[in-house]
Amino acid sequence: MENRWTETYPDPLDDCVQASRLLGAEPHLVLHGGGNTSVKVTVQDITGEQVEVLYVKGSGWDLATIERPGFAPLRLDRLRQLVQLEELPDSRMMNELRCALLDAKAPDPSVETLMHVLLPHTSVLHSHSDAVITLTNQREPLVKAVYGDKVVVVPYVMPGFKLARVAAEIFQNQLTDGIVGVVLMNHGLFTFGDTAKEAYDRHIQLVTEAEAYIGQQTTTAEANPADPLTIARIRKEIGPMIVSRHRDPATMAFVNRHDLADVATRGPATPDHIIRTKRVPLIGRDIDAFRRDYRQYFAANATDGLVMLDPEPRVILDPELGMLTIGKRATDHERPGLILSLGGVSSSILIDS
Ligand SMILES: [Zn+2]
Repeated sequence: MENRWTETYPDPLDDCVQASRLLGAEPHLVLHGGGNTSVKVTVQDITGEQVEVLYVKGSGWDLATIERPGFAPLRLDRLRQLVQLEELPDSRMMNELRCALLDAKAPDPSVETLMHVLLPHTSVLHSHSDAVITLTNQREPLVKAVYGDKVVVVPYVMPGFKLARVAAEIFQNQLTDGIVGVVLMNHGLFTFGDTAKEAYDRHIQLVTEAEAYIGQQTTTAEANPADPLTIARIRKEIGPMIVSRHRDPATMAFVNRHDLADVATRGPATPDHIIRTKRVPLIGRDIDAFRRDYRQYFAANATDGLVMLDPEPRVILDPELGMLTIGKRATDHERPGLILSLGGVSSSILIDS
C-alpha cells in the first residue's frame, strides 16, 4: 500500500486530520464511516487550567472527509478513571464519555474511544485493513508468522467496554517499547506513534507486509464464460438495486473452489462489513431459498423493536458467474474488493476487481 503522506502541520490536530483522511481514502483500510483516529494534546481550558485532552473521531463523521470539528475533545484524566472499572455497560459508557467532553456540541465519541486511552502514545490510528484481517481470519492465524514480536495480538471481543477491558490486561504486560501496532483478531489494526506521521507510516508498513504475504499465497484460475441472460434475470429478480459483476482471475479461482460453500459462509471478515455484505453470501443462484433463510435467521434472532432489512442477498458467488455484488447505492460498491476469510494458509485469497 502506498504511503501518501504529504506535509506535516504545526498543530497535532491538523496532522491527525490529515492521517485520518489518508486512511479514509483507502477502501482497503476502512469502509464509509469505519475506523477511528485520535491525538492527545494539552490545552488551556476556560478557567486557565492546563487539561490533557484526547481528540477522538466522532460518530457521524467519515474519515475520508473529516475536519477538525469531527473530533470529540475529552478529558483524559476522566477517561483513565473509566478504563479502571471492572464493568461498564456500553450504554452507560457512552453517557460517561459524553460527560467527559470539553465541548457540549461535540459529536458522540467513537465506541472504541477507550482503546485510544489505553495506548499511551500521542497519535493512534485504527483501521479494518483487509490484508490484516485476512491474516487473522485463518484457521491458524498468521499474525505472528508475518509480524513476529512487533505487534500485540488481542483476541476477538465485540467493540465497546469489554474489548477495552481485555486489551487493558494484555497491554499491561505486552505493550513494550519495540511494539508498533496492535492486531485485533477478526477486527483490525491499531498503530501509534509520537506523531500522526509516525503512526501512519507504521500503519502503511504493517498493511504492506500483510499484502506482500497474501500476494505470495494467492492462486488464480481461468474465467468461464457466462450467459448474459442469466445475469439479466438475476438483476430483474433482485429488484431496483445496482448489481456489479467481478470476474478477475482471483475471484474466479475462489468461486470455483470445491469447498466454496464451507469457506465462504463463515461470516464476514470483520463486523464492519456486515452492513454491506449481510451475514453470508448466496452460493449459486437460488434467490428464493436465500430470502427464506434470511427471514428464518431474522425471526430466530430478533429482539424487541428490531426491523428486518430487505431479504435480498448482497453478494452472490457462482462458479460460472463469478462474484456479483449488490447494493442500493453506488457507494455500497465504493470498495472495489471484497474479502472472504478462508480456512488455510495455502487457500488465502484477496478478492480484488
Ligand atoms: Zn474497529
